[in-house]
Amino acid sequence: MPSPASIAIDGSAAVGKSTVGRIVATRLGYRFIDTGEMYRALTWLALRQGIPMDDVASLAKLAGGAKIDLPPQPDDALGSILINGLDVTDAIHGAAVEACVPQVSGVPSVREAMAARQRSMARGAKVVMAGRDIGTVVLPQAALKVFLTAPLKERARRRHIEQQGKGLEAAYEAILADLARRDEIDTHRPVSPLRPAADARVIDTEGQTPEQVAGAIVKLAKEVDCP
Ligand code: C5P
Repeated sequence: MPSPASIAIDGSAAVGKSTVGRIVATRLGYRFIDTGEMYRALTWLALRQGIPMDDVASLAKLAGGAKIDLPPQPDDALGSILINGLDVTDAIHGAAVEACVPQVSGVPSVREAMAARQRSMARGAKVVMAGRDIGTVVLPQAALKVFLTAPLKERARRRHIEQQGKGLEAAYEAILADLARRDEIDTHRPVSPLRPAADARVIDTEGQTPEQVAGAIVKLAKEVDCP
């Protein structure tokens, strides 16, 4: 059975899409694309240029014109991201970006520009693409769509451990509140809300390691009927 050309992995903030997606991509020899990083990089650039978060026209112009590069990485090395030639890999995980990214990603014309870029990155390539709307909007033809879930407290616990591992000061309660806020906005926005595609395989990741979840996705990828 041939493997699917693209694998869509969607889910809430901090559910493990990137960690799992990277492992899946490495095992299958696919390219991993984290679309959350693209929205974060765009938000970083908007903040740097002093664009107000409610200036929809300027945000749309920025989304259409900015050069975003996700250089392919060897194996499961952490990806880097550049916007207009600037490496923003670390900067996009700061508090300012985290606070504003749902506003930027809620602008319909921003989403259209980003989805067009994401589709062109997937064209003719084998990709594992992670985000919120990959299975529903960006790659609805993907032969394998996965939607990851985990309770909010579990996701906050994982993110807290991850931040501590990076030596970052982060209070568990603050992480929990931020994830809840972003989930609420991402789920209820009128355009491309976070939800599983009708034909997505929903995987509850609670109590599972990233390797276990990735193993389940690789198994599904090998079973799926490809067009
Ligand atoms: O996945 P991550 O938490 O890094 O995404 C950051 C933000 O980018 C999300 O909270 C969401 O607002 C936005 N996003 C989106 N659509 C995607 C990926 C991310 O709206 N496909």
